[in-house]
Amino acid sequence: MKKIILAIILLTTSIFSNAATYNLKVLVAFDTNSTNFTTTQMGNYSNNFVSYLNQYIVNSNLGSTIGFSLAYNAKIPVLPYPTWNYDQLKNYYLSNQTNRGQTPKTTLTSFQKYYNADVVIVVSNPHGSSTSACGSSYVPIKSHMDSSHATVGDLLEEPIYSIVFVTGQSICITNPKVVVHEVGHSFGLQHGQAVQNQYGGGHYVASEIISSGASGYADYTAPGTLLDYHTVMGVISPDEPGIHHPFFSNSSKFACGYPAVYKCGNNTANAVGIIQAFSNRYAKRSDFFYWKIN
Ligand SMILES: [Zn+2]
Repeated sequence: MKKIILAIILLTTSIFSNAATYNLKVLVAFDTNSTNFTTTQMGNYSNNFVSYLNQYIVNSNLGSTIGFSLAYNAKIPVLPYPTWNYDQLKNYYLSNQTNRGQTPKTTLTSFQKYYNADVVIVVSNPHGSSTSACGSSYVPIKSHMDSSHATVGDLLEEPIYSIVFVTGQSICITNPKVVVHEVGHSFGLQHGQAVQNQYGGGHYVASEIISSGASGYADYTAPGTLLDYHTVMGVISPDEPGIHHPFFSNSSKFACGYPAVYKCGNNTANAVGIIQAFSNRYAKRSDFFYWKIN
């Protein structure tokens, strides 16, 4: 699991329509125990989430492959206890054991099953979240494919990998990068380009990544300068400043660095390739959820 701490990021967004090969259905759950948005607000936030995801996908030249659409949004009790903190909430839903091969235990996973959602976005305000992360999600790694998780298909039977959390505070819920970054993690994407170029929290161990290239892209040659840039999967925090591009790393894209003529990825940081391969192999993630094989 990875947490991100956000600095302020401003982006212009627009809505793209796309005719994608794989249409991933999105369920947005607003926790009844920690949020109190109006129906209009929930609708707007939900539509924005889908627009953000589609925009970044289009920006990454993946629009013909993947598209997101809103299946449903609702107030759903997610936090079992109002006093739970973020880690307790994560552990409850993101544990390896949660619901594996079992009937849905929670209202949230029941909704996920009913709507056959490929991605579930939970908006909540767990206790203490104001000082911690804007978002959280589970990153499938190689160890999930060991003896207890024999194949990637087996891994994907678990619905937990499709649940991402976004804090309901304005700075988080209105920032496109938060939700896109977290959904990117659920595809197995990690943070920066390479350990030696990373500093601060959130760097990955190369042996853990689910597939070569399953990372963001960052160049910390000159941290905090115009040469410092990274993609949406780069860590977004005050101690890792720089230019964050609104797309996933792509070794064929030349729009990074300063001037913006450098590759936005390389052989070890080509998130677009991973998402493409992931989609080609598994199509809709909901097809691999446990209720499909029961
Ligand atoms: Zn992250």
